[in-house]
Amino acid sequence: MRSFLCAALAASLTLPAAAQTGPGQARFRTLYKELVETNTTLSAGDCTLLAHKMGAHLKEAGYTDADLHYFTADGHPKEGGLVARLPGSDPHAKALLLLGHIDVVEARREDWTRDPFTLIEENGYFYGRGTADMKAQVAAWVDTMMRLKQEGFKNRRSVKMALTCGEETSTAFNGASYLSNHERDLIDAEFALNEGGGGRLNKDGKPLMMTIQAAEKFPQNYQLEVTNPGGHSSRPMPDNAIYKLAMGLTKVSAYAFPIQASDITRQYFAKLSPQVGGEMGAAMTAFAKDPTDKAASAKLASDPSYNAILHTTCVATLLNAGHANNALPQRADANINCRIFPGTTPEQVRATLQEVVADPAIKVTLVDKRSEVPKGPQPINPRVFAPVEKLVAKMWPGIPVVPSMSAGATDGAFLTPAGIPTYGVSGMFGDPDGNGAHGLNERMRVKSAYDGRDFLYEVVKIYASQK
Ligand SMILES: [Zn+2]
Repeated sequence: MRSFLCAALAASLTLPAAAQTGPGQARFRTLYKELVETNTTLSAGDCTLLAHKMGAHLKEAGYTDADLHYFTADGHPKEGGLVARLPGSDPHAKALLLLGHIDVVEARREDWTRDPFTLIEENGYFYGRGTADMKAQVAAWVDTMMRLKQEGFKNRRSVKMALTCGEETSTAFNGASYLSNHERDLIDAEFALNEGGGGRLNKDGKPLMMTIQAAEKFPQNYQLEVTNPGGHSSRPMPDNAIYKLAMGLTKVSAYAFPIQASDITRQYFAKLSPQVGGEMGAAMTAFAKDPTDKAASAKLASDPSYNAILHTTCVATLLNAGHANNALPQRADANINCRIFPGTTPEQVRATLQEVVADPAIKVTLVDKRSEVPKGPQPINPRVFAPVEKLVAKMWPGIPVVPSMSAGATDGAFLTPAGIPTYGVSGMFGDPDGNGAHGLNERMRVKSAYDGRDFLYEVVKIYASQK
């Protein structure tokens, strides 16, 4: 049923094909195919190999070895990346950075309908691991860099492109983190364009809005831990590590962090409201006007996606306790995964959790740290937003351009603390279900990929010409 629907939809959506043809599109598709078909999972893939393949295309287009900088870190030979640079004419103009991760989430052939590492076009969709997250955008970055060079485009500011590995696995070597900490000059820019934004289609395949991701929540894990001398289970005592932890967890589950709002989330709800309509749309309008409106935030919080951007959230994800079925537990601990609203610190959230469990025997500690904490929400910078608004009005008239905050994390979290504001701009329209990103049968609508390619090329030219 689903694939029939998709096929029917795709057929109706791809009718005006004039803008989709041309020899350049074939090259984009070749790049996309090579990106998807080069496995870049952490377990069996090779980002370094793929970075060199993309570098070879740039050389064919006229880039010299001096324009291409490959990097790897000790102990991570297959997790390398590439920074390419197209110098601008004005040495005083700060650069534009195009950021893309080339690694992908694991995918098992036996679980998928089609081979995840073959780019397959079917029913108006491209299928394959990374088709949506984020190899279509990477193909558009490489294609744009090649076109600018070959067309002799007179870019005022330098255009840089960083292809990195390790975004999808928090324990892996992260190229964006490495560049921010060790090769900051190479990627220095006024701002960076990254994944995280893009178009949303409604369930009927109609474009709803174009988002520019201007903020993201900060992921942080906490451990709740209770220790106890234990003893023989034939002689129970009131002081039990498992019961204590369970009581603390129950309190965490019942607690909701205070509602927060930023310019970004208020604009997001204000602009989304007319598209959504009904009671939910009315709640969006009310919340955008007055974030202290309790009825409005309660209505929004009934939807998990909207709830996720209303406040910090914390949820239990792992549990460990006891050491034998006939012993009183000596230890019980749980992992609480929090997604912190910009402007709140991980320590503030830790202190709140400690207060919520209301028991000094439950120790709340920060577990690991993915990155430095990004400095609050980023400004809604007209130098970033105006070019997108201009182009969206031309390509998709009537579609609002909406600033958004991601509940999840991207590599932008490494660049913003290093002083490079990072915005999610893709121009690619996705389905409401998330296109199977990270999951099974990941896909990208064919029209979205080709339109996104055109969009990104045009928007990069506008940015590259900015004073
Ligand atoms: Zn991604």
